[in-house]
Amino acid sequence: MSGAGMTTATTKAGGGRVVVVGSINVDLFARVARHPLPGETVLGGDGSTRPGGKGANQAVAAALAGAAVVMVGCVGDDAQAEVGVSLLRRAGVDLTRVREVAGSPTGLALITVSDAGENSIIVISGANAKVGHDDVADLDLTADDVVVVQGEIPVDVVDATVAGARRAGARVVVNLAPVVDLDPATLRAADPLVVNEHEALAAARTLGAVADGPDGPDGPDAAAPVDTAAAARLAEDLVAVGVASVVITLGGAGAVVAAPDTLSFTCDGEKVDVVDTTGAGDCFVGTLAAELAAGGDLRSSAERGNTAGAKAVQGRGAQESYDWEEKP
Ligand code: ATP
Repeated sequence: MSGAGMTTATTKAGGGRVVVVGSINVDLFARVARHPLPGETVLGGDGSTRPGGKGANQAVAAALAGAAVVMVGCVGDDAQAEVGVSLLRRAGVDLTRVREVAGSPTGLALITVSDAGENSIIVISGANAKVGHDDVADLDLTADDVVVVQGEIPVDVVDATVAGARRAGARVVVNLAPVVDLDPATLRAADPLVVNEHEALAAARTLGAVADGPDGPDGPDAAAPVDTAAAARLAEDLVAVGVASVVITLGGAGAVVAAPDTLSFTCDGEKVDVVDTTGAGDCFVGTLAAELAAGGDLRSSAERGNTAGAKAVQGRGAQESYDWEEKP
């Protein structure tokens, strides 16, 4: 982001950068005893605005895990933009590739969190929809870098980012969240593809690893895996149709990991008191990417992501709930 206070990531010895191409939002939180039914009004609490967006969450998590991180994305020309980048800045993320879009609002997410710790989210893209090919055309990537993408910016830009990263020899982490219509080549390039069980099923349908449900590829996902063994089979099926490697996160049950030529393995869920699951998946992804960029293997990276995700569910909000112990 041009202007005062921008920071520049430095590559740590022996490691590459984490380059996150994705969304920057402001999250508007409400606590509710339970989520309203259609047509119903319920009283809520909290009402705070906090920095969020899948891309920004993952970038913050990667920086807190020790990586040199570059954020690529867009904010609006409104007062919310500063809220959106505030914790990226505090975490030391390089914001020189964050572009301010005139006449566009900063992305907004309306998040309600119930007493049971379940969240429900509406995302309004705003400036995130303006991330374009020019933003990702010249990322100066090297083979040591790890590029991280998700589904909250235009899909053609995600596909172009991944294609460019592959040309540069960089490793690509694809988080198919929310589920969007990515090029199958993007999904196959993912190393790993990080998805929850519903997203895993959507990717498997796109790649023909499992049949569409009766309502087509976007139909109800009654076939989503219900236990660790079923998730491991689905992860292996995704690898079998050409995805470089796969991590399926399973909430409190941890995650399963599959890659060619190795047996799939499980990262056991950690028993913790859940306060708010918002951004736990992003924390997993960003932390995993940081460990990969530092030279870690898929197992150590997934295990570190799992530990970070378990920490994140114990605090409120997304970025605030991450591990800031080493940061001022
Ligand atoms: P979200 O969209 O809410 O961030 P997600 O569906 O993308 O979540 P999950 O699989 O729910 O992702 O959670 C991601 C990771 O966070 C898990 O793999 C685990 O490491 C951690 N996690 C989530 N929920 C719990 C929990 N109840 N107990 C311990 N760890 C958890």
